[in-house]
Order: sequence, then C-alpha cells, then structure tokens
Amino acid sequence: MITKGREILMLKKLLKEFKDFAMKGNVIDMAVGVIIGAAFGKVVTAVIDIFLQPLLDSLPKLEAGGTGFAGSVLSFLGVLVEFILTALVLFAIIKAVNAAKQIGKKPEAPKEKPRTCPFCCTEIAKEATRCPHCTSELPKYEPKKA
Ligand SMILES: [Zn+2]
Repeated sequence: MITKGREILMLKKLLKEFKDFAMKGNVIDMAVGVIIGAAFGKVVTAVIDIFLQPLLDSLPKLEAGGTGFAGSVLSFLGVLVEFILTALVLFAIIKAVNAAKQIGKKPEAPKEKPRTCPFCCTEIAKEATRCPHCTSELPKYEPKKA
C-alpha cells in the first residue's frame, strides 16, 4: 500500500512537470513556429511553381538525368538549383515582410552623442556643471546642432 501511494505521488509530480513544460511560453512559441513554418513552405513552393518553374523548364532538363554517375550528378544539381531558388524566394519574402514592417514607422532620430568631459574624456550628464570623475568645472553645455 505504501508503494502505491508513492506511485501516485510520483505520477502527480510527473504530470505537474509535464504541465510546466508544455505551458512554458517557448514550447508554445516553438509549436506555432513549426506550424507556420510548414504552411510557409507551401507558400514558397507555390511561388516557385508559379513564377520560377516556367524558367526552370526552359533550361535544359536537369532532373531528366539517366542512370549512373552522370545521372546522379545531374539530379544532385537539380536539387541544388531547387535549394538555391527556395532560399532566394525565402529571402525575397523576408525582405518584403521587413519592408512592410517599416511602413508607418517613424525614421529613428539619430542618437545624440553622449556628452564627455573635455578634461578626462569620460561620459557625463548633459546638465553637469562639474565632472564627477575628475571634478573639473565644466563649461555650460550647448547641444551640438546636427
Ligand atoms: Zn572629467
């Protein structure tokens, strides 16, 4: 009877650990990523089929390679071309998405250089009248105009 109680306790602990694991944000994020990735693969394939397949078809048939070493090399080249095209399409889509993200975003103002002490060259507060590092008296701060 004692062992049974222990087993139940262990099972409960295991369940709790599993719940903690499954409910962690990164597991769910990962699952979403995998699912979106799978769907995204279809988009990429569709783009290749629609826009690039005609182009590929006009090239000498690579996949048609017969048997033997030459055929293997040719089919490998076909796979390679497909991979490069997939990467290119992916790159184009990511570029487009990034460009879309920028729309409506204000261009970031160029950051003002931090003020430095003219005597010891360490960073200091803009309003400081005395350097906290070398204790030199500082001239009045005037922001540089860009
Ligand atoms: Zn200083």
